[in-house]
Amino acid sequence: MRSARHLKFVALAVFIVMVLIAAVPFWLNRSVNDLLAQSRAELRAQQRLDDILTSMRDAETAQRGFVITGNDVFLEPYEQVRRTLPGVLHDAKDKAPTDAERATAWRIARLAELKLAELDETIQLRRRAGFEATERVVSSLRGKQYMDDMRRLVAAEDARSMARHDALQADLLARSARSFTVSVAATACNIVALGILLLLIMRMLRARRAIAGQLETQTGQLAEAVGLTTRHNRELKFVAEMLRAVEAVPSVPDAAPVIARSLPKLLPGVSGTLFLLRDEDEHVLDRHTQWGTPSEQPSEIDIESCWSLRHGARYRTASSNDLPCAHYRRPVEETTARLCIPLVTHDELVGMLHLEGLAAGPAYEEQERLAVTVAEQLALALGNARLRESLRRQSVLDPLTGLFNRRHFDAALKRELARARRKNVPVSLVLVDIDHFKRVNDDYGHAVGDAVLRTIAQQLRLGIREGDIACRYGGEEMVLLLPECAAADAGTRAEAIRIALAAIVPHPEGEGPQKVTASFGVAAYPAHAQDAEALFWAADKALYRAKQQGRNRVMTGA
Ligand code: GH3
Ligand code: MG
Ligand code: MG
Repeated sequence: MRSARHLKFVALAVFIVMVLIAAVPFWLNRSVNDLLAQSRAELRAQQRLDDILTSMRDAETAQRGFVITGNDVFLEPYEQVRRTLPGVLHDAKDKAPTDAERATAWRIARLAELKLAELDETIQLRRRAGFEATERVVSSLRGKQYMDDMRRLVAAEDARSMARHDALQADLLARSARSFTVSVAATACNIVALGILLLLIMRMLRARRAIAGQLETQTGQLAEAVGLTTRHNRELKFVAEMLRAVEAVPSVPDAAPVIARSLPKLLPGVSGTLFLLRDEDEHVLDRHTQWGTPSEQPSEIDIESCWSLRHGARYRTASSNDLPCAHYRRPVEETTARLCIPLVTHDELVGMLHLEGLAAGPAYEEQERLAVTVAEQLALALGNARLRESLRRQSVLDPLTGLFNRRHFDAALKRELARARRKNVPVSLVLVDIDHFKRVNDDYGHAVGDAVLRTIAQQLRLGIREGDIACRYGGEEMVLLLPECAAADAGTRAEAIRIALAAIVPHPEGEGPQKVTASFGVAAYPAHAQDAEALFWAADKALYRAKQQGRNRVMTGA
């Protein structure tokens, strides 16, 4: 803006200078024109005097011819002069350029009038008195005297006029030369001024172009930054959605479908496989899910079969020069990249993300950045899920036997009874108490006692259906909760478990009891009781009867 104002100022100054410069030759030309006009007036004045003289000569010649011949034909030029002379004389007097010339013109005009009167007189005389009388008058030389005076005056005026004319010409030449020089100088000045203006305009345009270029660059950078931010925001939104979903899953494997749905949105066109660490084996990862168009991957991989798991860092393969991982079933493509990212949280391996079809060119860095960020977040979320799962398990499971604990049983019993009431179906309880367990402890020690407890717990687990619940109720007492199972079926099931238990060697390694039995008390809703407490009490009474009647038996509540 400042430069535009500056330019307007300079343009105005240049315009004023140009107008002033243009005015100088104009003024000079005007003075030259004045001189020319003066010169022309001078010449015309002189011409008029010459014309008077010429006219008078013509008139004199005509008079002479008439006087000699008496023939009127000779008088024609004379008559012509008489008609035109008054106008000529008037012009000569009136239009003389200077006072001196006007005075001379007056004198010449006076002589011309006198001469004309003299001619007139002689012509009249010739008509009246004839040639001789006229010849005498002519010979008096009066008329000649007029002509001589006139010639002298005109010649003198000619000489003066010539001198004035020469002076005017010299002045004219000098002024013309000055005018030419000034015009050339003015043109040069104008060219310089225009050049300066042009230079300024070009500089301003250049500056504007530079500013426009800068603006364009800045606009481009801004648009890029906005695009990047928008993309990052979108990615953050997807990552947040995925993490929220992973946080909500009850166990780590449940996160797999969530991940398979979310990752294609974050990394479009990229296929993948998710491996998760197997719970009971720290060296094996199971394939849990795949998305996109992934290559074939083994259902389980060993830590040793993946370079990323070996080194604990991401591993990329993008050409046949790169060493492939052992879990690849297909050779490395030259056009796209593969990436294995270990999912590690708090130095603990959770799984491994295998990505395929990543850009091989410059776009790879951006994809890798995103993939690594997502993997870090995912590992954290999966670690949390694993922790939650383990805490939940701890809160409901008995650590020694792996059966549900009493707290879980109490809640489950209430829940199942409510459901049974709602659905009008039975639910059974089977109380299990090991026979003479004190002796096992006494004979073989507490550790063997614990091992026997674990074996019996396993036996109970094997003896129930999916949906049934086996709990360690306390000490060596266990309880089975059998939903939608009436007392008779529960008795049959308890009997089967009793027989199976009595048939096994409960502690095969080392010294231990060769056989162990248990007593079972069965009670059912709605046959034996209507609420949890009464149901438990009925089962306990049945158990007591089993003990009373010699142990290693099943009794059902009445
Ligand atoms: P009965 O046939 O009358 O049931 O005889 P019993 O010896 O089993 O008698 P009771 O049920 O009263 O005894 C329970 C014993 O179980 C007491 C305790 O030493 C043992 N016991 C309870 N909890 C544990 C445990 O966690 N580990 C081991 N090793 N023993 C336990
Ligand atoms: Mg007991
Ligand atoms: Mg016992």
